[in-house]
Amino acid sequence: MNTMNFENKQLSDLLLYIEQQGITDLRLIDAIKAVPREMFLLSSFRTHAYKDVALPINCNQTISQPSIVARMTEALELTDRTKVLEIGSGSGYQTAILAYLCRRVYTIERYRPLLVETTERLKNLGINNVTTRHADGSLGWVEQAPFQRILVTAAAADIPPNLLSQLGKSGVLVAPIGHDKKDQRLTRIRRKKDSLESEDLGPVSFVPLELGVVRD
Ligand code: SAH
Repeated sequence: MNTMNFENKQLSDLLLYIEQQGITDLRLIDAIKAVPREMFLLSSFRTHAYKDVALPINCNQTISQPSIVARMTEALELTDRTKVLEIGSGSGYQTAILAYLCRRVYTIERYRPLLVETTERLKNLGINNVTTRHADGSLGWVEQAPFQRILVTAAAADIPPNLLSQLGKSGVLVAPIGHDKKDQRLTRIRRKKDSLESEDLGPVSFVPLELGVVRD
């Protein structure tokens, strides 16, 4: 079997697995088919691109597991008119999936080397509806607020208040909540007329959302 066939087989197995996990959104399945995950990995991990595993990236961070990316993306209920804020660009893989499905993505990363690499990578892939920023994402992106959707891809004990205040009318925020890596819950917050409604979407395991300092 040549390499291409091997990758195709891994991708079709992965898609089957993701569908078995209950993901039904066909646009999302198309996005996973369209975004080449191997391009977001360090070269030594490329043969694992279509396995359902999180893998190490630079700056001691991780690229998320594809089935978790799928779950979080589906939970956001995106349309092609949506403007999304993402906190924790990392490798840019989740960013690229969002970019495929939405009008515009604003993404913030605290490690400058990761952000520089990711910005270049997205550009090389011809993805041009993403704006990147090097900053502490817990503060949000005041100049672009409000956002219809906010996705946090690192875990905090509580949702940063600035993110909640930048979530627009009928907005949806998805974030892993809980500091202990073994005790985090994927949480969806929905802005209702006079309140915020919270839903538990099950256990997850993410690197921590680091507050305050950014890294050069
Ligand atoms: N979705 C990414 C996941 C990366 S892991 C991917 O699949 O590649 C989470 C990322 O959040 C890391 O890159 C980490 O540096 C970043 N992060 C942690 N705290 C942050 C903060 N306060 N502001 C911005 N980014 C942060």
